[in-house]
Amino acid sequence: MNMDDSVELARLLRGFGLAEAPTADEADIIHINTCSVRKKAEEKFFSFLGVQSIRKRKTGAPLIGVSGCTAELMDIAEGRPEIDYVIGSRRPADYADRIRAAVESKYPEIADAQIATHAAPPEGPVSSFQTVIRGCTNCCTYCMVPRARGPEASVPPEIAVREAEVRIAEGAREIILLGQDVLAYGEDLTPRLHLLDVLRAVHALPGLRRLRFVTSHPRRIDEDFLRGLAELPKVCEHFHIPFQSGDDEILKRMNRGYTRAEYISKIELIRQYFPDAAITADVIVGFPGETDEQFDNTARLVEAIRPDQLYAFKYSTRPGTPAAEWEDDIPRALKEARLARLIDMENAISRELNRSLIGSEQEVMVTVKIESGRYKGRTRTNKITDFRTDRELGPGDVATVKISGATPHALQGKCL
Ligand code: SAM
Ligand code: SF4
Repeated sequence: MNMDDSVELARLLRGFGLAEAPTADEADIIHINTCSVRKKAEEKFFSFLGVQSIRKRKTGAPLIGVSGCTAELMDIAEGRPEIDYVIGSRRPADYADRIRAAVESKYPEIADAQIATHAAPPEGPVSSFQTVIRGCTNCCTYCMVPRARGPEASVPPEIAVREAEVRIAEGAREIILLGQDVLAYGEDLTPRLHLLDVLRAVHALPGLRRLRFVTSHPRRIDEDFLRGLAELPKVCEHFHIPFQSGDDEILKRMNRGYTRAEYISKIELIRQYFPDAAITADVIVGFPGETDEQFDNTARLVEAIRPDQLYAFKYSTRPGTPAAEWEDDIPRALKEARLARLIDMENAISRELNRSLIGSEQEVMVTVKIESGRYKGRTRTNKITDFRTDRELGPGDVATVKISGATPHALQGKCL
């Protein structure tokens, strides 16, 4: 979601006649889009800000602006005169006037600049994120998002279609519709809509080859949704469906709204409709009070569902969340050991799953040319694939690739 907001911010700044600097250290304007989901993200922000502040004290440049969740939650400009403007975590376009005013006050010449209307739209990514529902109304006890981004607000489908058209005009051939709980899409709209409605509307756009959606909350996966998806051939067979823990007591304290058995039954349901679907998930280790046995339940869940990829995080206390009231009592070394165990398990599972694809034919959409005759792309199941071909291909082209090699995180093959 931050990446999508950053792309929108870049689009906005380009609209003022600005262009990207080769490196941050050469930029006249630095806009930092922050994340506060884990402490580490905040630490990275403060350290980058520190480096740029030193440059600013020495040279007067750059203009520094900050947006996103950390900016929403803290008074970050307080005692930091180097920050020129601060905006929050709403849509970047909502702040266009404030950003423009700040930029013009430091660089008045841009106010008079003849802004070239783009003869051709700027080139965007071939695979483009697009937020269709902002905020989150769930209350997972460890999570900052509801405080930082507010309650759910869906983008009406006609606006979502216009935003998708912009992305396609910029070169996107794949769009990933985003929401913290993307299946809550439309519940706040009148009339009430469903994610399937916006998927169908974007699916119909010419030029689009693939459509994805992320993140699915396990509670909201049901047969009507899966049946609807099965009618949309551009929608790829990949579900990112975090479980966070495999232990019922921890899940309850996380306020996730499902049990381990219910999670497993949702995965089974997905596999009934899409037997070859990739399943990826997030998990948190070292939640307050997590015993060895409770962690073992998580490890057993990983063995039971065998996800294609697992994004595992060490619990980090987020101020103001309900879980912050509980002691962060799992020592760092134990969190790291648990994390390492899950990563080892997942590497073995991903390797096996990827190896089972050797000999199969996969539809791969090119994302980048690595060198002459060699390309990188992704399968419909979102697996990175490195392949060779004599054909000249470009980003967004689709090739049928015979898989000849596999590692835990990628496939290799040759274009048929
Ligand atoms: N909305 C998505 C969901 O409910 O699954 C995830 C959103 S969150 C921005 C991305 C991931 O960060 C979560 O799935 C969780 O695994 C992790 N995360 C969130 N809060 C965390 C915390 N306090 N400590 C460690 N990891 C956290
Ligand atoms: Fe956070 Fe839970 Fe909302 Fe995901 S569903 S953003 S983890 S509160």
